[in-house]
Amino acid sequence: MNKFYHIVTYGCQMNVHESEKIAGILSDMGYVSCEEPENADIVVFNTCCIRENAENHAFGNIGMLKKLKSVKKDMIIAVGGCLPQQINKAENLHEKFPYVDIIFGTHNLHELRRLIELKQGRKKTVIEIEDSEGEICEDDRPLRTSYPNAWVNIMYGCNNFCSYCIVPYVRGRERSRDSKKIIEEVKGLIKEGYKEITLLGQNVNSYRGELTFPRLLEKIAQLDGKFRVRFMTSHPKDFSPELIDVMARYPKICNCLHLPVQSGSDSILKAMNRKYTAEEYLKKVEALKKSIPDCAITTDLIVGFPGETDEDFKATEELVKKVGYASAFTFVYSKRDGTVAAKMENQVPEEVSKRRIIELVELVNSQTRVLSATYIGKTIEILCEDYDPKRGLYLGRDEYGRMGYFESDEDVVGQFVMMKVEQANGVSLSGRLVV
Ligand code: SF4
Repeated sequence: MNKFYHIVTYGCQMNVHESEKIAGILSDMGYVSCEEPENADIVVFNTCCIRENAENHAFGNIGMLKKLKSVKKDMIIAVGGCLPQQINKAENLHEKFPYVDIIFGTHNLHELRRLIELKQGRKKTVIEIEDSEGEICEDDRPLRTSYPNAWVNIMYGCNNFCSYCIVPYVRGRERSRDSKKIIEEVKGLIKEGYKEITLLGQNVNSYRGELTFPRLLEKIAQLDGKFRVRFMTSHPKDFSPELIDVMARYPKICNCLHLPVQSGSDSILKAMNRKYTAEEYLKKVEALKKSIPDCAITTDLIVGFPGETDEDFKATEELVKKVGYASAFTFVYSKRDGTVAAKMENQVPEEVSKRRIIELVELVNSQTRVLSATYIGKTIEILCEDYDPKRGLYLGRDEYGRMGYFESDEDVVGQFVMMKVEQANGVSLSGRLVV
């Protein structure tokens, strides 16, 4: 009889990919995926703690399983990832949710099989939070769920200690994977039919294998086959002319770049410990646009960082206008215990942050709408990712990351298709297939 697993994932692409690794471990143990926790023999929460609401969301959902666990006593509930890796959080979790069976940290993921077996032999909650990162585990066999896209970790951890960010505390210091192993993994994925490879790291520009990041990217872009390659995330301080050069020379590298700026004010950037000024950032953007004029640039923006004045916020708006982002993730600053910024005085009142975020979202959306409108009438190449049964349409993205919807009589998931854009709806486009 089949045993079933259900994974709930919060947070970034890194976590999405780690959930694929968790799925790989569970599938090796004979578990099969299921849609509803009610049908599962094991439920795994792969958590995020980058913002308070991600944490609260996870707490809420773990709490909701209490009733189910009281009637389904053999069901295993495991909570892993960034949330329990924070100082004292595993103990808090255990106190708050004593019915959780396994609590594990970011450095224990590859040990999940052992932890499950350990739990099966005893009543007590299994809590394992490794403090130090240790060797990179190359044995994982992720059960990929995002065909035709494949995520590939090239490095783990972060050394940057941006003053608002919890990541270096829960993911440890930077560790880069062996370049040859990464290239072998990508080759294997292309052979299996994956059409889009996204190289992942907290700051891919500080990748230090046998190759530098631009050289690694170049080697991957030189591989045979019809596929695209993307990467994220790039810290602006390390974004280099060499990388621009490689991006410009290889058509397989998507003409799009996620370059988080966070703020347009130099004093806020300094307080954030970002190690670049607005002018330095803009110079890099200018160099990129000079080499790749149609490059779609996306970013992350934080409003309400401690001490942010109206002038600082205006500087952010000015920078957004100068760059002309294809899209942006906008956030209200979220205080994270243990970070330097959490101890800063002059925290910005909530109503001020709310006003600023509304204004910023409108600015970013208006840029996105203007850019989308320029697509109308053009024919673009889309990699079809899925079929949306509710809308009766296939969907996929172009190399710039823009989502396109279209009808097709045939199943074209995993294929590159040409779409004539007829309508632009904010961030997404719709049109018809052309040959
Ligand atoms: S670069 Fe900064 S924001 Fe990004 S993960 Fe590292 S510390 Fe966090």
